[in-house]
Amino acid sequence: MLFPMIPLFIVISAPSGAGKTTLCDMLLQDYPEMCYSVSCTTREPRGDEVDGEDYHFLTVEAFQRFIDEGRFLEHAKVHGHYYGTLREPICQALRENQCALLDIDVAGAEQIRNHVAMLPPGDLLRAGFVDIFIAPPSIQELEVRLYGRGTDADAVIAKRLRNARQEMEQASRYMFQIVNDDLGVAFRRLCDIINVKAQLI
Ligand code: 5GP
Repeated sequence: MLFPMIPLFIVISAPSGAGKTTLCDMLLQDYPEMCYSVSCTTREPRGDEVDGEDYHFLTVEAFQRFIDEGRFLEHAKVHGHYYGTLREPICQALRENQCALLDIDVAGAEQIRNHVAMLPPGDLLRAGFVDIFIAPPSIQELEVRLYGRGTDADAVIAKRLRNARQEMEQASRYMFQIVNDDLGVAFRRLCDIINVKAQLI
């Protein structure tokens, strides 16, 4: 990645199964100096997820306390559970000239977009802001991927597919969209977008 004068604040969204987590992992592997925002959630850990690494797993009461204390930059209910982005780690990373990477749902991205638009132009959250939507090639392909992953019950997958249709309708709200048909191509496009953005600021 080119070294931007101002650290990038990168927000990525996608329906479950579109390959967003894989693309974010690839980005972090290539750019380990980038700060990945570990979200808070009230859902149960899946598979080998580690508390504090994949998510901060909170009770609903603790999550509500964090809301009351104003600790979230955004928060939303996704697939029946609460998710939220902690404000302080993001602001600290940007202050230390580190790029920040968020993997959040479309409702959270909309909150951040609205928040960022109200900030003065020089604010670090606004200056390096870029949002990217990762789309699957089709809903049918998404269905194949979600069943193939084997981590979720059928009812959960059905819910994620219903949500995916609504999430896809939000794609045009993002500055950039990437269709993840081929992982290598999608990753190159992601790096290109970030490099172009880094050159512009
Ligand atoms: P999963 O439970 O599969 O890890 O994530 C479900 C959805 O929640 C994904 O779309 C993911 O991007 C979103 N998500 C994860 N963290 C956050 C967050 O902090 N805020 C919001 N709004 N969505 C999040």
